[in-house]
Amino acid sequence: MTIRIKKGRTGQSLRDTVVRMSGIDLSACYQCKKCSSGCTVSGHSQSPPSEIIRRLQLGAGDELLTNDLIWTCVSCETCYARCPMGIDLVPVMDALRAIAIQRKAAVPKGNVPLFNSAFLKTVNMFGRTYDLGLMALYKIGTSSYSQDADKIPVIFSKKKIAFLPSWSSNLKTVKRIFEIARQNKGK
Ligand code: SF4
Ligand code: SF4
Repeated sequence: MTIRIKKGRTGQSLRDTVVRMSGIDLSACYQCKKCSSGCTVSGHSQSPPSEIIRRLQLGAGDELLTNDLIWTCVSCETCYARCPMGIDLVPVMDALRAIAIQRKAAVPKGNVPLFNSAFLKTVNMFGRTYDLGLMALYKIGTSSYSQDADKIPVIFSKKKIAFLPSWSSNLKTVKRIFEIARQNKGK
C-alpha cells in the first residue's frame, strides 16, 4: 500500500509532539505488523496501528489526525502485548486524540468523543468510573433518553451497576493527574 505524507501545517512535527506527550520511542518500530494482525478494531478502521506509526515516522502532518483508528482504538493493549519492541500504542493513541481535539482536526466516529469525555468527567469527579453518571452524561449529550430504557430495571435488579457513586481513596492523586494533564496540554 502506498502511503502519502503531507508536511505538518503547524511547523511543529506531529511525531515530535506525539513522542513528547506519550513518552513512546516510535523509532524502535521496524514494521513487523504483529500489532496490526492482533488489533481488535483495525478491520473496521481506515488503517492498522502499524501504519499509524509508519506515517508518524515518515513525518505525517495533521491529515493523520482524521484517521478513524484514533477513535476506534479501544485501548485493549493487544498491540503492546504482541510488540517485540515493547511499543505501547495506547499512550500514542491518547496523544493523537488530545492533539486532534486541540487542533480542531478531530473527525471522530459516532459518539466516541462524547463517551470519552463523559467517562473522564466521572473519573475526575470520583477518582474512578461511575457507570450511572456516565450513562446520564451520555444520554444528555445524545438526547437518546428512551434508548435502552427498558434494560434499566434489569441492570439494577441484577446489581450490574451501583445506584450511588463510590469515591476513590486516592481522589486527590487522580485530581492531580488531571491537573498535570491539563497543564501538559497547554505546552
Ligand atoms: S508490533 Fe511493534 S515493532 Fe511491530 S509494527 Fe507494531 S509497533 Fe512496530
Ligand atoms: S490498543 Fe488500540 S491499536 Fe492496540 S490493539 Fe487495541 S484497539 Fe488496536
